[in-house]
Amino acid sequence: MGHGDIRKVAIVGSGPAGLTAALYVARAALEPLVIEGIEAGGQLMLTTQVENYPGFVDGIMGPDLMVRVRQQAARCGAQFLTDNVTSVDLSQVPFHVNTGDEEILADTVILSTGASAKMLGVPGEREFLGRGVSTCATCDGFFFKDKEIIVVGGGDSAMEEATFLTRFASKVTVLHRRAELRASKIMQERALSNPTIDFIWNSMIGEVHGDDTVRGVRLTNLETSASQQISIDGVFVAIGHTPNTSLFTGQLDLASGYIVTTPGTTATSIPGVFAAGDVTDSRYRQAITAAGMGAMAAIDAERYLAARAIPLASAA
Ligand code: NAP
Repeated sequence: MGHGDIRKVAIVGSGPAGLTAALYVARAALEPLVIEGIEAGGQLMLTTQVENYPGFVDGIMGPDLMVRVRQQAARCGAQFLTDNVTSVDLSQVPFHVNTGDEEILADTVILSTGASAKMLGVPGEREFLGRGVSTCATCDGFFFKDKEIIVVGGGDSAMEEATFLTRFASKVTVLHRRAELRASKIMQERALSNPTIDFIWNSMIGEVHGDDTVRGVRLTNLETSASQQISIDGVFVAIGHTPNTSLFTGQLDLASGYIVTTPGTTATSIPGVFAAGDVTDSRYRQAITAAGMGAMAAIDAERYLAARAIPLASAA
């Protein structure tokens, strides 16, 4: 605990960014409290095998990785509150972080509430997440060697994922709900000229089906309402992400919904409030980059507290 009932560091969110921040803050003997949420662990809890997190030669299951990092942070002294944050007040110091039942006061706050991949909301999609349905080509493309897959979306993410996936897949079909792509010209041209990529226009997935893994989808043409079944091994949903920043709207500088940080640091527009991971990152979105930012946020918070602890008299 900090002075009185005031925490030195409160961390909101418990994905790779929040837990790594907790580990570092705990090892700086600053006794962080992580408000981890009811559904703790972030997006890795929705994945299966993670093969690109360094140190795990044979890969590790996403949920297993998060359990381990949490245990590591706890062993170093991090404390956890398993509740959802319902509101924050960043307009006064100490900052206020509220759950339904508790009000936490803290000198610094690290915001690591992550982002959520937008989903189609069709039958079978959630059921097959991690078993043929994916929201991350960088993470899962490797599992689709010589397979046929669909990428849903018409933006830069969809073009980037489709192009990337041609390294593995025998055939990639981009499925878009309109007849015109939203992606930037250069990304469009790259995808349109790739012989391994086909396009289906004006269409949506109505249902994903399979057994152990995805076997096919039902498509609906939005112009004709005609339906067709096609056999497919994988579905990559690339229709954008939503940063989880509704709690902070109007309190912090946001850009396209993401928390703005000073480049090269995790400092937000409010001194003492730091942000790490996908809540501030629309570009990299990897567990390892989120973890890296979590470490940065912990170091930034520690330095902020150390600088404030110097009495004015001795600083003069
Ligand atoms: P985005 O630009 O918002 O595009 C989302 C795409 O998904 C759109 O084509 C949209 O269709 C479609 N879509 C949305 N909801 C859908 C639904 N329910 N069903 C079917 N389709 C749906 O998102 P993004 O591609 O993730 O890009 C986000 C930002 O990151 C953009 O600013 C982008 O430029 C940037 N980005 C840049 C790069 C790069 O430069 N390397 C890579 C990735 C992302 P409509 O077109 O009909 O709306």
